[in-house]
Amino acid sequence: MTRTTDAVVVGSGPNGLAAAIMLAGAGLAVRVIEGAETPGGGCRTAELTLPGFRHDICSAVHPLAAASPFFTQLDLPSLGVTLATPKIAFAQPLDGGRATWLAGSVDETAGGLGADAGAYRRLLGPLVRQAPLILPDLLAPLRSLPGHPLAMARFVLSGLPPASLLAKRFRTDEARALLAGAAAHTMLPLTAVGTGAFGLMFMMIAHAVGWPVVEGGSARLVDALTAELAAVGGELETGHWVRSLADLPPARTVLLDLTPRQFAELAGPALSARQRRSLERFRYGPGVCKVDLALSGPVPWQAAACRETGTVHVGGSFDEVARSETDVNAGRHPDRPFCLVAQPGVVDPTRAPAGKHTLWGYCHVPPGSSVDMAARIEAQIERFAPGFTDLIMARSVRTAADMERYNPNYVGGDINGGAATLRQTLLRPTPRWNPYRTALPGVFLCSASTPPGGGVHGMCGAGAARAALADLAR
Ligand SMILES: Cc1cc2nc3c(=O)[nH]c(=O)nc-3n(C[C@H](O)[C@H](O)[C@H](O)COP(=O)(O)OP(=O)(O)OC[C@H]3O[C@@H](n4cnc5c(N)ncnc54)[C@H](O)[C@@H]3O)c2cc1C
Repeated sequence: MTRTTDAVVVGSGPNGLAAAIMLAGAGLAVRVIEGAETPGGGCRTAELTLPGFRHDICSAVHPLAAASPFFTQLDLPSLGVTLATPKIAFAQPLDGGRATWLAGSVDETAGGLGADAGAYRRLLGPLVRQAPLILPDLLAPLRSLPGHPLAMARFVLSGLPPASLLAKRFRTDEARALLAGAAAHTMLPLTAVGTGAFGLMFMMIAHAVGWPVVEGGSARLVDALTAELAAVGGELETGHWVRSLADLPPARTVLLDLTPRQFAELAGPALSARQRRSLERFRYGPGVCKVDLALSGPVPWQAAACRETGTVHVGGSFDEVARSETDVNAGRHPDRPFCLVAQPGVVDPTRAPAGKHTLWGYCHVPPGSSVDMAARIEAQIERFAPGFTDLIMARSVRTAADMERYNPNYVGGDINGGAATLRQTLLRPTPRWNPYRTALPGVFLCSASTPPGGGVHGMCGAGAARAALADLAR
């Protein structure tokens, strides 16, 4: 007898799979429908350059997975996932062979910040001590009541000033650049409200759990999720692009691992003009241009700290990073872009043949850009690691426009499922009390466009699954 479907999940990114696991774990018959030939969305690994060189196509560094209540309860090691955590969470080279870095405890990092040691301890110390209370609230919808209001209030007060103002607490290039690199993950000008809070959150997570990569590649996380889904009875179908909600198999509930724009397209006339307008108000952020390189050896960073970390923020001083983000948000392609670089081989020798390395790097670009920034990214790395370009054996480049072709969730190349503005941090995707519900009864959004936003943590999927289960229980 054919099994009837209780829940359909469209899209098998980390959030779609997290939602499906929670629904199937609650006893529902779940079917995940994925358009691409392989599951995983932004969490896949492939030989993009040469045989034996395994590159993370999208996500590579997983502090959010390490901090995520969803992944913690899943017990990743029992599912064959090893998080390889470098001693230095992230580093940022500065001119003159110097670098700034975040490693281990607040005291250890403060020790590398000279005259700013005290200011760093005062800013990060209390937050890191309370990280176990604060992080679960940051990885939940911010419009729900925090579990630990006092700890959360301290975090909000500390992170209220934009990164440009927070940086004024510091006197050294090192401390200011460290903050800039963490805050620039938002893709916003560093004068924007919210950039301070995001910067502090990434630094707090780095002290609390580190910035690991997944041994063997990010796809191992998705292998674990699909194995868990099968174990709880869920089904996964790949190679099936959903064009309309009307084409879905009948089900009691539907969860969409899609952004608001795609939801509006798939829903078609089921949405009123007013409901459609509400979705159209959702704002996407800048795009990224990404380069993957096969290297004949490790990157010859001048600064030792950059050789010992998996993540290098490349862009120089606070002012240079800030200028790069301002340019991108004004529609310009920076000549000297701020680049996010991962070198997983520092802690995971399985990524490339013996002695060789992979390098993952991207910079922010205006939305929809088809400009190839590889030469500018490589020039920035060469600036701090002379001789680097001589090591390049092969490269693969994806512009922002390519990103969207690869995965329609990356609208204009925006890898975070929507701009990280203050409004959208608090009220993404639309200002409903329950952020996962849509205007269509029984239809939920579960992608990174919902709280808590972009990154591989599965918490958007977990939140949407809880909302769907609550509705079904009524
Ligand atoms: C270059 C890059 C670097 C990144 N780096 C990091 C990082 O280091 N660390 C980190 O934590 N995060 C990183 N991210 C972000 C992270 O990958 C995403 O936030 C995360 O994957 C979002 O998960 P999701 O499940 O919401 O959506 P996605 O992972 O985007 O999954 C959506 C899925 O839905 C499918 N789909 C879309 N439309 C349809 C349709 N009509 N029918 C059927 N299927 C459909 C897609 O094929 C896709 O598989 C990065 C992303 C990119 C692109």
